[in-house]
Amino acid sequence: MPDAPSSAVSALDDRIDDRIDDRIDDRIDDRIDDRTSISSPAMTSEGSADDFLVRFWGVRGSIPTPGPSTVRYGGNTPCVEMCCGSQRLVFDGGTGIRLLGQNLIRELPVEAHIFFTHSHWDHIQGFPFFTPAFIRGNTFHIYGKVAPNGASIRERLEDQMLHPNFPVPLRIMGATLVFHDLEPDAQLQIGDRVAIETGMLNHPGEATGYRVTFGGKTVVYATDTEHYPDRLDGSLLHLARQADVLILDATYTDEEYWSSTSSKVGWGHSTWQEAVKLARAADVKFLVIFHHDPVHDDAFLDRVGADVQTCFPHSTMAVEGMVLALQPEGVQIRL
Ligand SMILES: [Zn+2]
Ligand SMILES: [Zn+2]
Repeated sequence: MPDAPSSAVSALDDRIDDRIDDRIDDRIDDRIDDRTSISSPAMTSEGSADDFLVRFWGVRGSIPTPGPSTVRYGGNTPCVEMCCGSQRLVFDGGTGIRLLGQNLIRELPVEAHIFFTHSHWDHIQGFPFFTPAFIRGNTFHIYGKVAPNGASIRERLEDQMLHPNFPVPLRIMGATLVFHDLEPDAQLQIGDRVAIETGMLNHPGEATGYRVTFGGKTVVYATDTEHYPDRLDGSLLHLARQADVLILDATYTDEEYWSSTSSKVGWGHSTWQEAVKLARAADVKFLVIFHHDPVHDDAFLDRVGADVQTCFPHSTMAVEGMVLALQPEGVQIRL
């Protein structure tokens, strides 16, 4: 393994060289794309010590969906950033985390806590392209529950970067990576002011939901999860209780879910109608519809958003690039 070069960016350049996808190389020379250049100053370390901001870097489920019909809601797979004062939390490493990485290399060194719901491909596939992880001097605490087959989150992230599936192994990453295996119902503290609670979600191969509390406000990130036909999910209900913001898997409509020709029962995802039901029962203040189905284009998602608004006015569809600011008077949406 080569020695670490002095400059962080050249370190990345040296390490990745031409062994990694051209898309990363293209970005190394500060050629950050337009989307990252609209970063809100409040999402950087310059934000107020009391700011609680949530930014959506990837909102699409299952597989990336680039193209003209998905450009408004976005095609990147799940990645959500929460800035709680000086603490930076990241949820999932779908392809959206690549954009987050490009944003972060402008404020090195970076320390962040990255939480994985599970390791289905759409939630980890962006991690090998997360540029700050290749840069010495950065620190990432990485959390995930051990999978039913016994594999830790570290092992699963390592596995996806092995030959012949990927040219650069995880050990090449120059940042300090500290791995944490989570218990099924964990409670942890990040610094003095951020409390995190986890809960099990109903998903093939299991998934973990996260409840983040900071400054008296609570945001819950719960994807991927399927509702039960005959009752509300008690674990999810508890996790989401009186949350200020609930980000919830609502991949389908009820009509799609129960379709006689292509039923989605047992696929591990829920519907917007069930999301509304859950949000009402849990006394949630603001609902975010998340993990959009790859077949749902912008026009379709517009219609879903209008339907959700009718049933649950304090809500929004997740949109790539959207920032939610938790204010004393409620949630402010910045697009
Ligand atoms: Zn997913
Ligand atoms: Zn999944």
